[in-house]
Amino acid sequence: MRLIFLGAPGSGKGTQAKRLRDAHGIPQLSTGDLLREAVRQGSNLGKDAEEHIGAGRLVPDELVMALIADRMKQEDCEPGFILDGFPRTVAQAEALESTLSELSRSIDAVVEIRVDQGKLIERLVGRRICPKGHGEWHIRFNPPRVEGKCDVCGEKLTHREDDYEDTIRTRLEAYRNLTAPLIDYYQGRGLLRPVNGEGDMDEIAKEIEAIYQSTSESAC
Ligand code: AMP
Repeated sequence: MRLIFLGAPGSGKGTQAKRLRDAHGIPQLSTGDLLREAVRQGSNLGKDAEEHIGAGRLVPDELVMALIADRMKQEDCEPGFILDGFPRTVAQAEALESTLSELSRSIDAVVEIRVDQGKLIERLVGRRICPKGHGEWHIRFNPPRVEGKCDVCGEKLTHREDDYEDTIRTRLEAYRNLTAPLIDYYQGRGLLRPVNGEGDMDEIAKEIEAIYQSTSESAC
């Protein structure tokens, strides 16, 4: 099963993609995570990407493609994958299509998580992340048991440098101008499966699970 999770920053697509990964054991490939890892490692690609990420702009398509095309060809992606935060431009979607067709593969469904734009800034400004990858919390909507500490490992939670209001506004603008056209792109290919991302997290996960099940039945 090959799925795309599409949605604005703060829509919850990362959280939901990880839940589906855990439920079905298929890898979740987040270009945001891969790029941040490249920045941490100080690779050439990471150095080129860093300034764009810090400013809330999209990283150039060719850098993102170099990163994700390799990752999709790894063995653990054989049974399928969940693309989280990729593609983010029509050029990336077209490049993805041709990479997959070289491998005689295609996308099965695109889960679009819809959240009112007005709610996204509040969600992102209050988001806090475990630096060891144990998840994310929100200072108001989902606070950790001990203020500022990860519930799993106790590590101090961090505030992502692009989760401050000015940068968030740039990221949302990039979403509206460059990524939202993908909604029509995938609608036109009959792949779009919209989900209301404003309700309870467990209910949203159930709706996505139903999409997963019906897509895997029709893929058989
Ligand atoms: P995310 O963790 O998905 O919110 O991504 C964080 C940042 O990484 C974005 O604001 C972009 O600067 C960059 N990024 C992640 N995925 C992509 C992509 N597919 N294309 C371009 N830039 C990306």
